[in-house]
Amino acid sequence: MKVPYSRPEIGPEEKAAAMRVLDSGWLTTGKEAQAFEQEFKDYLNRPALQCLAVNSATAGLHLALEAMGVGPGDEVIVPTMTFTATAEVVRYLGATPVFTDIDPETMCMTVEGIEDAMTEQTKVVIPVHYAGLACEVTEIVSHCHQHEVLVLEDAAHALPSTYDKRLVGTGGADATVFSFYANKTLTTGEGGMIVTPHDDYAKRMSTMSLHGIDRPAFDRFSAPGNWYYDVVAPGFKYNMTDLAAAIGREQLRKVERMAQRRAEIARQYLTAFNSLPVQLPYPGTMAREHAWHLFVLRLLPQAPMGRNQLMQALTAAGIGFSLHYTPLHRMTYWRESLNLDIGDYPEAERCYDSMISLPIFSTMTQAEVQRVIEVVTRSLV
Ligand SMILES: *Cc1c(COP(=O)(O)O)cnc(C)c1O
Repeated sequence: MKVPYSRPEIGPEEKAAAMRVLDSGWLTTGKEAQAFEQEFKDYLNRPALQCLAVNSATAGLHLALEAMGVGPGDEVIVPTMTFTATAEVVRYLGATPVFTDIDPETMCMTVEGIEDAMTEQTKVVIPVHYAGLACEVTEIVSHCHQHEVLVLEDAAHALPSTYDKRLVGTGGADATVFSFYANKTLTTGEGGMIVTPHDDYAKRMSTMSLHGIDRPAFDRFSAPGNWYYDVVAPGFKYNMTDLAAAIGREQLRKVERMAQRRAEIARQYLTAFNSLPVQLPYPGTMAREHAWHLFVLRLLPQAPMGRNQLMQALTAAGIGFSLHYTPLHRMTYWRESLNLDIGDYPEAERCYDSMISLPIFSTMTQAEVQRVIEVVTRSLV
């Protein structure tokens, strides 16, 4: 039996929603995107927050940093253990990312790491809620705000995750960005959502998401006789289509159930692998609920095979896997342009050598879960 690394949960509801849009005559940003933003806000249950649907989380992170006024000379602190998108958007604006090491237990960035990396030039900190476990949001926000540094959460893995019993996105950060990429916990194929409590950021991001035009395209085309629009900045093309938004609305209705299924699979893995020579992922607590976007196993030195050998065993058995991540300080561009040294990130290095991401997705069958458990156990006992 083959087990894929990931498989999106697309049911008759998503298909009907896509057909509804295709038949409507309006394919780009419009009523569906507006409704998705409203429903996302309802889901977060914080009426004071503003939501903006965009065509990727990368676009969302870029827009948020732009609205925050990040530019040349500024520094933005990001963990080295993340996807390159978290750092590349800093470069789009001519600013400099500063990488921090991670906590060996949770693999998230830490308040101490942020403190060490902060300088007079620090403008923003981007905590990444690694694998779906929230960073220490309350402490990070309070520390940053004390130093007049802004907080932009990269919540690409973190729907729905909590910290201090609050959903990620509602914990006081200046903006939060979710990803709806194909293998994320909610998907629209490609897409993202920006959440912010600041009206001025919301307005700027909305304008910049569509060419710097000062009003939504939908109003422009739908209001009879109202053809006028102005361009106030050289904006981007980051709007979410109604086709994607309609799929997202259906996904949002399932998000809690999909999260429950992931958590159930994680519990089975945690139990099954408990006596193997591995370090299990930190499972979170009642107040810090894990979204289980990733299930990352770390092999201990006494394991009978190394990580690469385990990858070969999984490949031979037809089981998908992944690696999150090759730390950014190891990537040619970042290493060379920032002059980085492998020795500066010992915890990330230790993780990188031993880590592997196992399949975990809401449509995973019990037979598939059992098969992964069987092959991993057989390889590591
Ligand atoms: C997936 C991901 C992104 C980028 O999301 P897109 O929607 O593909 O742009 C950013 N950061 C992290 C940590 C991610 O996993």
